[in-house]
Amino acid sequence: MPEEKKLLAKTLINRIESADHLNLVHNTMIPVTKSFLPPIQEYDAFLARIWSNEWLTNRGELVKELEDKLKSYLNVSNILITNNGTIPLQIALKLLGGGGEIITTPFSYVATTAAIVWEHCTPVFVDIHPDYLTIDETKIEAAITSKTTCILATHVFGNPCHIEAIEAIANKHGLKVIYDAAHCFGVTYKRKSIFEYGDISTCSFHATKLFHTGEGGAIFCRDQALRHAIYYSHNFGHNGPLDFFGLGINGKISELQAAMGLAVLPHMEEILEGRKQVVGYYDQHLDFTDVKKLSIRDGATWNYSYYPVLFPSEEILLNVLERLNKADIFPRRYFYPSLNTIEYTHGMEMPVSEETSKRILCLPLFKGLEEKNLFTISNIISSWN
Ligand SMILES: *Cc1c(COP(=O)(O)O)cnc(C)c1O
Repeated sequence: MPEEKKLLAKTLINRIESADHLNLVHNTMIPVTKSFLPPIQEYDAFLARIWSNEWLTNRGELVKELEDKLKSYLNVSNILITNNGTIPLQIALKLLGGGGEIITTPFSYVATTAAIVWEHCTPVFVDIHPDYLTIDETKIEAAITSKTTCILATHVFGNPCHIEAIEAIANKHGLKVIYDAAHCFGVTYKRKSIFEYGDISTCSFHATKLFHTGEGGAIFCRDQALRHAIYYSHNFGHNGPLDFFGLGINGKISELQAAMGLAVLPHMEEILEGRKQVVGYYDQHLDFTDVKKLSIRDGATWNYSYYPVLFPSEEILLNVLERLNKADIFPRRYFYPSLNTIEYTHGMEMPVSEETSKRILCLPLFKGLEEKNLFTISNIISSWN
C-alpha cells in the first residue's frame, strides 16, 4: 500500500476509534480523545433500577432524573434530552427554517450543514473569524436575502460566537438564531450558561464529547410555545396515544443512555480537572512562535473540550501528522474539509475557513493522558522546522 493510503487507512481507524476505542485501539496508541467510562459498579446501580422498573424508554424515571440533574448542573432554565446531537438541529430547522436560506458557518462538524440540507433548507455560508474560528459576524448582513429565515452558528470548540452582534442582526432582520453548541457542555458566557442564548441551542452527548451518554444530545429553548413544539416534535408529534399536535419524529433518548449520563455526571469535576492539566501542559510546552492556538472570546469560561493548533501551512501539518502517527499518536484534522467544499453545498468560496481547515489539527486531549506522551507530542510539534 502506498504511504498516503496507509495514512488514510489509519486516519479512518482513528475516526471510528472515538466511538469504539476499546476494541480498536491497542494499548500504546494515543487517540485524539478517549471516552470517560465511569466505574462499572456505578453504571450497574443505574441499570439495576431499569431492571426493577422494567421501563426502557419513552421518558422513564432515569431520563427525567438526568434532565433534572443537568438542569441544575448547567444552570439552565430548561432542557430536553434527545437520542443524539443531530436530531435537535433537525427539529430546530424544521420548526424555524421554513425551507428557506440558513446563514451558517463553513467551519464545523458536517452535521451542522447536513441538517440544513436534510431539512430542505439552503445553507448560505459566511466565512469565519481567523482567531476565534466562529462565524464572522461582520460578514453576516451581506449574506441576508428575502429568503433568509435563520442564522445557524456553531460555538466551535466551545468558543462562543459574537453573540451580541448576531442577536442584533437577527432582531434587525427578523431572523431566528440557532446555536449548534455541541462542544459547549458547561461553557458559560457573561455568567450565564451558553445554552441560554439564541432561540434554540443544541448540544451533543456523543461518546467523544466532554459529557456523554454514549449517543445522546439536548435541546434548549426559552420560549414556551416553541418548547412545546420541540417537545411534541421529538415524540412523533403525539398528544396522547391517539391524538397528535403535529408532525414529529423520534428524538427520544432511552433509559440505558440516561443511565450512562447519570453515571458520568458526578465525575465531571475530575474529567475537567484532568483535561485542564493537559491543556496547561500544552500551553506551557508548545512553541507558539509559528504555531497558533485558539483565541477564547472574552466573557467566556471555557471547558477544555479541544486543543486545536494552526500550522503555517498544510504541508507542515501533514509532515507533523506523519511524525506523530509514526510515534503512535493520532490527532484529528478537526474540521476538514471546509463545509462549503462538500459536493452537496454548491461551492461558495470561503477563504478563511478553507485555509484554516487545511492547517488545523486537534491534539490528543483527555483525562489521564500521560506526561511522557505529552512530552513527545509537544516535542514533535515544536520541532517541525
Ligand atoms: C458532534 C457534533 C454534532 C453531532 O452530534 P451527534 O451527537 O454526534 O449527533 C453536531 N455538531 C457539532 C459541531 C458536533 O461536533
